[in-house]
Amino acid sequence: MSEPLDDLYRDILMEHYRFPRGRKKLDHFHIHNEGQNPACGDEIEISVELEGEKVKDIYVSCMGCAISVASGSMLAEIIKGKSLDEVKKIANMIKSMLKGEEISKEIDLGDLEALRGVRKFPVRIKCALLSWTTLIDAVMAKEARQKTSASSTE
Ligand code: ZN
Repeated sequence: MSEPLDDLYRDILMEHYRFPRGRKKLDHFHIHNEGQNPACGDEIEISVELEGEKVKDIYVSCMGCAISVASGSMLAEIIKGKSLDEVKKIANMIKSMLKGEEISKEIDLGDLEALRGVRKFPVRIKCALLSWTTLIDAVMAKEARQKTSASSTE
């Protein structure tokens, strides 16, 4: 990462990269997925334990560049205690932010604001989104399964 990122954003990213959150494996989980970003070589594994519709705990293991690891760490930090609907909302806000679109202030993105600088480097956007697409794909798959089992019992 030799491109000049805004200093503050870079400090936040590097802090998450050095001390990633959510590294404790979960004994029980309801959502699990793995994802890759072949363009950069990033690999991620995510497990989520739910309590009702809310995220009780999360495990994120990401091996890759500073942006993918930091993004995964921020994801682990922000989604704890959030409902799956809120998690989907946050994922959409981040996608919009990385496209340079205006985003609502409905949910405080906290450290995730630091990813804003990544939009200046289009090849890095996939690194920043890897953890989010990996998680959201699994959430959607879980919801689709629930819908199928609900309609089959009708
Ligand atoms: Zn990467």
